[in-house]
Amino acid sequence: MKTIIEPFRIKSVEPIEMTTRHQRERYIHAAHYNLFSLESQHVLIDLLTDSGTSSMSARQWGAIMTGDESYAGSPSFFRFESAVRKLMPFKNIIPTHQGRAAEKILFSVVAGKGKYIPNNTHFDTTRANIEFTGAQAVDLVVSEGLNPASEHPFKGNMDVQRLIDFINEIGEDNIPICMLTLTNNSGGGQPVSMDNIREVKSVCEHYGIPLFIDACRFAENAYFIKIREKGFQNRDIPSIVREIFSYADGVTMSAKKDGLVNIGGWLAMNNDLWASQARTLLILTEGFPTYGGLAGRDLEAIAVGLEEIVQEDYLRYRIASTQYLGDHLFEAGVPTVRPAGGHAIYIDARAMLPHIPPMQYPGQSLAVELYLHGGIRGCEIGTVMFGRQADGTELPSRMDLVRLAIPRRVYTQSHIDYVIEAIIEVNEHKHNLQGMKITWEPPSLRHFTSHFEYCL
Ligand SMILES: *Cc1c(COP(=O)(O)O)cnc(C)c1O
Repeated sequence: MKTIIEPFRIKSVEPIEMTTRHQRERYIHAAHYNLFSLESQHVLIDLLTDSGTSSMSARQWGAIMTGDESYAGSPSFFRFESAVRKLMPFKNIIPTHQGRAAEKILFSVVAGKGKYIPNNTHFDTTRANIEFTGAQAVDLVVSEGLNPASEHPFKGNMDVQRLIDFINEIGEDNIPICMLTLTNNSGGGQPVSMDNIREVKSVCEHYGIPLFIDACRFAENAYFIKIREKGFQNRDIPSIVREIFSYADGVTMSAKKDGLVNIGGWLAMNNDLWASQARTLLILTEGFPTYGGLAGRDLEAIAVGLEEIVQEDYLRYRIASTQYLGDHLFEAGVPTVRPAGGHAIYIDARAMLPHIPPMQYPGQSLAVELYLHGGIRGCEIGTVMFGRQADGTELPSRMDLVRLAIPRRVYTQSHIDYVIEAIIEVNEHKHNLQGMKITWEPPSLRHFTSHFEYCL
């Protein structure tokens, strides 16, 4: 059957406040045309991020009531630890309040001046935490991963030859760990194949470099392996997940993604010495090692979320729903990054709006118009986000995209149909869209707070 049905019923609803274009014109004007400055109740369909925006299940809410808030040795911690270990069998499992806290602690232990950390593509907080220690973050994704039109099934793969060349150039002693991000968020939510994970592991092993996985979307990646990689069609998801982590020496994880919760994360590894240093830092900034910046109830919600995220019915719906959005836009002639990623669709605003030069932020103009026309909030990933250089000058970024990230279990197929309709209508009147300019910007991370106006 063609219709995707959600593998759940809805027991508790959150009303969406319906707004008109006229109202939205007022809201976005008051927000200086910055979508981050909108009040979220003025958004109809919020596709700003899939992070921390999941709906929890009745079982998760039930587990929350069983949370034990003891400072040390809470049974909630042991339920969390055993749920993590079932999928990621590492010796040391250290809870943190979210993914970047795990990164901050890991890189404080292993990185530092003169060190280099390769990855397929570092997520922005990962890169920032590496660079904060004085080390350098290096992206070595395959060339297909940089080509928006390529339909390669595993565009998140590491370029293994480049990795070998890089290690030979820099020297393995200056590379404390190698990383793989599953799925490759900054590269469009594209998966990494099992074959590539094995090859990267064998290179790492040869040079004695531990492999860490940024595991935020491990379940979506495992499902892509199942449906796209030869030999995995008959394997169940937990066994694919366990095989992935059998090649790793540790992970950083944001439970706000494939943990199916609104807050949480962890750092896990086999190295006892590093783990003991990590726990010391954890106590400084996060808390005691059996809660690490979370409440006992949060640990319970993660433990149940990890059972639900690897259910095949859920993953089939999740990936089909994202792909449905991507394929309908593609068929309607809206330029997008191909193929659909696991958690998001990226519209190529530069290709869609060739009459707006990159320095007039076509991505921002499109993101604002999607809000005005349909009440949809996406996120510019382009010249606004990356265009400002260290010396204060500005250059066009490599691409001007608008990301539509899909929260987990939140919107139904009819919401997705509405999004498709709205985007196709915007595409039909795209010639009317105007370029934008920045009228105020902060010293760093300008996309969050800048003010915009239309160019006249
Ligand atoms: C979200 C994310 C992180 C950081 O996690 P937070 O929970 O937001 O701190 C790290 N890596 C990837 C790939 C992510 O998507």
